Amino acid sequence: MYFTGFHCVGCDATYPADRDLLLCERCENLLEADYDYDRIRADLPREGFAQRPHGVWRWVELLPVLDRAKIVTLGEGDTPLLRCDRIAAAVGVDELWVKSDATGNPTGSLKDRSITVSATKAAEFGYRVLACDSTGNKASSVAAYAARAGLGSVVFCPHDTPVPKMAQAIFFGARLIRVRGHYSQINAMYRRLIHSKSVAWYDCGTDNPFRYEGKKTYAYEMAQAFGWDVPDCVVHPASGGMSIAKTWKGFGELRRLGWTERSPRMFGVQAANCGPIARSWAAGADIVAPVEKKPTLASALAAADPGLLGTRALAAIRASGGAAAGISEDEILDSVRLLASEGLFIEPSGAVTIAGVRRMVAAGQITRGERVVCVVTGSGFKDFERLQEMVTIPEKVVEGYDEMLAEAQSV
Ligand SMILES: [Zn+2]
Repeated sequence: MYFTGFHCVGCDATYPADRDLLLCERCENLLEADYDYDRIRADLPREGFAQRPHGVWRWVELLPVLDRAKIVTLGEGDTPLLRCDRIAAAVGVDELWVKSDATGNPTGSLKDRSITVSATKAAEFGYRVLACDSTGNKASSVAAYAARAGLGSVVFCPHDTPVPKMAQAIFFGARLIRVRGHYSQINAMYRRLIHSKSVAWYDCGTDNPFRYEGKKTYAYEMAQAFGWDVPDCVVHPASGGMSIAKTWKGFGELRRLGWTERSPRMFGVQAANCGPIARSWAAGADIVAPVEKKPTLASALAAADPGLLGTRALAAIRASGGAAAGISEDEILDSVRLLASEGLFIEPSGAVTIAGVRRMVAAGQITRGERVVCVVTGSGFKDFERLQEMVTIPEKVVEGYDEMLAEAQSV
């Protein structure tokens, strides 16, 4: 086994690999999974991974599982990586790639990349029910993987969560509980519920250290796609920010294994109306302070108080030499339109990286000649009502061939 256990990022506590844990028992900080990298390096040449079936589980030795027979998968990961020259020209760089976790994952969002790991751990530990709090995408993913594993699911969402996301979770059999308030308020109550042990559910929420390890696979997929080189800049939407922290960990692992020679700079993009990580970065702070949430189209990014997760993301951004930005509502819509110009149907929350790059270029944080990868994270079908408002369905209905011909000639 290459997964060797956990260490706490806040104190020197360590825990064995078979422990069912969320946070550090001593100081309640986040846990980080550890691996025997020397053995991986000795046993597994990087070229061997290309021969394996595609998906997150291609990298099983770098994921925290103990029983491969319990893996719960829907074929997630190995999502499209698309060079987009029209978007590149519009935002001011020569080479821009879109990594589409929105269109390449089973439930239409990035969450599948991590929930496949937490569902597997739930199966390993023998739980019967998966649970999470969510702005919508995590809820549908937890519900889908619970269904796949033959388990139950309970999900807690803000009362104003986009209807398609709630419907998708319920469709997969989840018991969905709508809670009045914004996400960070619900997150605090949900964490209290889980840690109180009042329920015997497996938490797939913000404290689960196993789940986040799935997000490292972004780094592996990008490095392999570029011939074991890495992009100069990786730009990711930020809610809690753990995708950024874990992608950064993944790139660090690749260097440690000797599979790549460098790491990219990491960039986080939020809505200015709810952008605690961006604000803390701009202020030069080391700890992410909560902000007051204002309405935003990027509802999936609206974590006003990301707490320890946000601070981890900020540390990764700083360590990599990257930056964070909060973009306006108009810039969010512009990102959605630019992605549509390349045939990509992306929800507002998942699209923000595009306008983010334009901001970073204007600020001199990204330069024109660099290779940039923008991760887009949620399908347009996930927030369909908002996107529908951006177009006009024609009222006119033609009838018969002659009218159809006349209409065709008027195009
Ligand atoms: Zn600790």
